[in-house]
Formats: sequence, structure tokens, C-alpha cells
Amino acid sequence: MSAVPPVRPDLQLTEGYHSPQVDAEVRLNTNESPFGPPEEWRSEFLDALAEVSFHRYPDRPATELRRAVADQHGVTEDEVFCANGSNEVLQCLMLAFGGPGRRALLFEPTYALHSHISRITGTEVLDGGRDDDFQIDPEHAARLLRAEHPDVVFLCSPNNPTGRAEPPATVEAVLGAAPGLVVVDEAYGQFSPWSALELRGAASPGLVVTRTFSKTWAMAGARLGYLVGDPAVVQACEAVVLPYHLSAQTQLAGLLALRHVPEMEARVARISEERGRVEAALHDLPVDTWPSDANFILFRPRDRDADEVWRSLLEQSVLIRNCANWDGLRGCLRVTIGTPEENDRFLNALKESL
Ligand code: PMP
Repeated sequence: MSAVPPVRPDLQLTEGYHSPQVDAEVRLNTNESPFGPPEEWRSEFLDALAEVSFHRYPDRPATELRRAVADQHGVTEDEVFCANGSNEVLQCLMLAFGGPGRRALLFEPTYALHSHISRITGTEVLDGGRDDDFQIDPEHAARLLRAEHPDVVFLCSPNNPTGRAEPPATVEAVLGAAPGLVVVDEAYGQFSPWSALELRGAASPGLVVTRTFSKTWAMAGARLGYLVGDPAVVQACEAVVLPYHLSAQTQLAGLLALRHVPEMEARVARISEERGRVEAALHDLPVDTWPSDANFILFRPRDRDADEVWRSLLEQSVLIRNCANWDGLRGCLRVTIGTPEENDRFLNALKESL
């Protein structure tokens, strides 16, 4: 008789990645855009959908979309790979460049999927750590790289969940010492004062920058992300990704979004302004905060238990991210910047909870 076999022994401790989708009036827990994409995008998208030949497979290499992404960054389309969210891009990278006998170096606390995807692809994870202020020491990073020779290094800039963009000197130090790929996850790249894309060139063939349409492009529901990297990296991803992985509607959604760059930039500016207001308001409360170059802020209640504060906010129908029990983030909470009204609800609920 057939039976469900035990899962791979190396996965037995893995729970999978969960971000609780709890019902709440104000949802500030997953760093989405609080504003939807422009109305013109919506009508262009619906019109284009009416023309799709749904009985046919989609354009496998997503030619038009890749060309449009490439134009956006002033690169060629053979330097762009698109997939279902930047998570799938990261997964393809690790299927191609990680795996049994290979190692990935990352700097916790950082985006949980970097270690998660490494582990599920059988890649050993090394943690370089951060200082008390959540910064990476560039010299320490370079020393580690020279000693450990990892196949892949993950940086996250701005870093989720701590908020700050990595300084250029840190990325340069890592690029200078890394023997393999350096993946800079720029899911929040448009909020950052600079991009690692500026460091691309003959001296850094292993640099890969990943981006997503889920945050600044206000399209988390569409599931689209991409990387910009060496054509050899793109080819490797194409070799491991499933055929026709990117649906016709996903390709269209991204292609049409790229016609609305000014609206995207205006959204980023509005959210950044709101972030300044929320940051200033947090400074007047008994919480420690860390500076942010993204659309979220990490903070730690000084005199109250973070779990209790999180629950009290939820009782007031405000959902934020509870990082209080994550390694290296003891007592911390993370709030996404929402609309002005949502931010007011959050700030008032937080005052009440503290
Ligand atoms: N990278 C970082 C740093 C993120 O915070 C997220 C989303 N939380 C992602 C990648 C994944 O985004 P998506 O798969 O929606 O593109």
C-alpha cells in the first residue's frame, strides 16, 4: 500500500514561511503599498487581457517584459530574468548556484527567505551577523568571505526588517572579497538613496540585483519580480525554472506598470514623507527606533512587553509585524507605512498600548 513517506531529513525542522494574514481593519504587517496601482493601469490591463489567447502558452522568455525592464535600467534583455515575485527569482538563483555541498553567507537579522530558500535547496547557511545597531562591519564581512569562500552572499538593501540601506562601502567590500555570487535584494530599492546597480561592471560579474513589483509598484497581488545580472546568471536561472512559469497576465501586468513610472515615483515620495511623520511621532513615545530607508520602521517598546503591545494593537484592529521572538530582534516590532489615516490609527493605538 502506498504511504506518505517522511520528508527529506534536512527539511524536518523547517516550518515554511508564514506571515499571518489576520483580519484587521488596518494591515501594516507585510510592507505592501497602501495605495493601489493607477486607474489608467487597471483599464489598460483589463483591455489587454481581453486580447490574450488563453488557449496558448505564454511567451516563455517574457520577451517584451524583459525588454521593458532592461530599458528601465539601461541594460540589455539578456541581463534580466523575471519570475513570480522576487522570491521565485531567489529560488531559481539558489537552485542554480546553491545546493548540496554549497554554502550561502548572509547577515542576520535579515529577510527570512534568504536562509529559508537556501535551506530548502540544500545549501548550507553561514551567518555573518550584524552589530548592535544592525550594521554589517565591512572588514569583518571581507575577512569572513576570504576564510569561508561561500558560493553565494546575500545582502538586502534596504534591509528587511531593520530598514537601512547598506552603505556603498559595505557592498564594495563584499564584492571585492566574494569568490562567487553577491545577491543584493533591493525589494525596497526605490526608497533607497542609492542602488547596487550603480556598481555593475566588468569588475563585478558576480553581482546580481533583485527587485520586485510587490512594494513600490503596488502590485503584490500580481506576483512579479526580476533580477539584473550577468547573462550567464540569467541563463542559469532559465535552466532551472519551470517552463512557461510566468503567466500571460503576469507579463502584461508588469509590462503595463512600467508605463507608469511617474506615478510610482510619486507613490514612493508620498510614502517616504509619511514615514518621516511616523518616525517623528515615534520619537515622542517610549520606544527605540532605527532609521529607515524603506517603507517600514523597526521599533522596540522600552518599558512594555512587545508581544503584549502587538496583541493590544491587534485588539484595536491594527496589525503590524511581531518580530519580538526572532533571533537578534528580541522585543522588536515592525510597522509598514500606510495611508495617512492608517498611520494615525496605528500611532493612536500604539499610544494607547504603551
Ligand atoms: N525581498 C525582500 C527583502 C522582501 O521583503 C520581500 C517581500 N516581503 C521579498 C523579497 C519578496 O517579494 P516578492 O516575492 O513579493 O517579490
